[in-house]
Amino acid sequence: MKLCTFDEGAGRLTGVIEGDSILPLRGTVDMLDLIQRGAGSTSAAPALPLHSVRLLAPIVPKRNVFCVGWNYAAHFAEGKAFRPADAVQEIPDHPALFTKNPFAIIGPEAAIRHPAPISDQLDYEVELAVVIGRAGRDIREADALDHVFGYTIANDVSVRDVQRTWHGGQWFKGKNFDTHLPLGPWIVTADEIPDPQSLRITTRVNGATKQDSNTKQMVFPVAQVIAELSAGLTLHPGDVIMTGTPDGVGMGRTPPEWLKPGDVVELEIERIGVLRNHIERGA
Ligand code: MG
Repeated sequence: MKLCTFDEGAGRLTGVIEGDSILPLRGTVDMLDLIQRGAGSTSAAPALPLHSVRLLAPIVPKRNVFCVGWNYAAHFAEGKAFRPADAVQEIPDHPALFTKNPFAIIGPEAAIRHPAPISDQLDYEVELAVVIGRAGRDIREADALDHVFGYTIANDVSVRDVQRTWHGGQWFKGKNFDTHLPLGPWIVTADEIPDPQSLRITTRVNGATKQDSNTKQMVFPVAQVIAELSAGLTLHPGDVIMTGTPDGVGMGRTPPEWLKPGDVVELEIERIGVLRNHIERGA
């Protein structure tokens, strides 16, 4: 099932996407309410044409989005030249974690704010995002996928010089500019993706392919990320976990390619869909 959050002109609603139509779920407050009650427990109103509504980010979690810093060996390698000699030189044994705050989230077709004059090093990162459906702490890897409600696409938009060299080289600030977390276009429930480790994952900028990999290349599979993150830390329904990006980001290209105002970024993950946004100065 594909579940979305949308606006038909009268406020935010949740719905089920079927082909080119949306079946509004008018009994639900929002996606979090839907996740907590179970996706099958609400009745649908008459269908709306998909093109007649504006899709919003399918979910805005109550707390920060959890992110894996490095999860594809080729992406770790392409960043090696940019790391200082005293920084991490090999992918750690456990996933590197940071967070993005929910106020940075935007939906499909919304504008990503260009950071000039603070920086011109604006970069994209396509990532498989996991939505937690069932609470748990100390979740075993073997049970981890039972806690997943569904999957969506995230763009871990990054301001590279701020991420790498400002503020002590930690990641939070360079990955938390306003609008720098596009999410969507909808959530595909976990029953439709029994194996999250076999999905083609791509980025196109102005139609040209820049990232093209497969989630089977993850160093830390989704189940391991959930197990390690939940060690001593309770995951709650509606939590979102971003699982890292493959190689091909703008920073790793020769010469580096930074996003500019007017650029269109399309992220695609097999069995989920396409998340498209554009860059705007002062958005
Ligand atoms: Mg990332």
